[in-house]
Amino acid sequence: MTKGTTSRGKHTAHRTHMQCRRCGNRSYHKRKQRCAYCGFPSAKLRRFSWQRKNFNHRRRIH
Ligand SMILES: [Zn+2]
Repeated sequence: MTKGTTSRGKHTAHRTHMQCRRCGNRSYHKRKQRCAYCGFPSAKLRRFSWQRKNFNHRRRIH
């Protein structure tokens, strides 16, 4: 087993993420017990301003 391309094949064996109960994406981290997409056990949805594109932000179209 080498460090490069050959070892990548084993990465499908243990999945770090499983399907999230809330958002349905396969982003729920099994060991961290947290969804990377929506931040699942937290009550609030994980949202960031940079997620959406800045179309018409401050009435300026780029
Ligand atoms: Zn989720």
